[in-house]
Amino acid sequence: MIIDLSSVLKDYGGVMRLCEKADIKDISFQGEKFVFPEGLLIKGKITNNTKSLYLSAEVTGKAITACARCLKPVEVDISFDISEILVREEEKESVSDEDVIFYSGYSVDMDEIIIDNFIVNVPGKYLCKEDCKGLCPNCGKDLNLGECTCEKEEIDPRWAALAEIMKNSETE
Ligand SMILES: [Zn+2]
Ligand SMILES: [Zn+2]
Repeated sequence: MIIDLSSVLKDYGGVMRLCEKADIKDISFQGEKFVFPEGLLIKGKITNNTKSLYLSAEVTGKAITACARCLKPVEVDISFDISEILVREEEKESVSDEDVIFYSGYSVDMDEIIIDNFIVNVPGKYLCKEDCKGLCPNCGKDLNLGECTCEKEEIDPRWAALAEIMKNSETE
């Protein structure tokens, strides 16, 4: 989503209201994928501070991701704040603060800002329920649906011996 900044740039001290739907389909990071069936809503304002623009907004929406333990789809409510300083690429030299976002010309790509802030603000892991039992690492069965047979099997005696050695070396 490209936001046209030309009107607020002409207006020192001016404020531009923002209420837009960002058509971001999905974001993947740290092995997790988040799908946004309705996109994300960004609501806030851009203020012209003469030297730079200040963006302050809230992003909300619904995301579908996988439970971190059993991989079942989970729908979660997303909500986070964005607060960024926008500086024109052409004025890069005059900025000492590293923590700013550069835009070129008279517009800024809001999707990029939303995605960067999403990654910082949203925990990577969601669970379908607090006590999700997850999948058996051995047979892959969803343990929420019942126990699998793996746990009832005897540990291979060779591994048991190794486990014993490990245990002893830990206590030494
Ligand atoms: Zn789960
Ligand atoms: Zn199993």
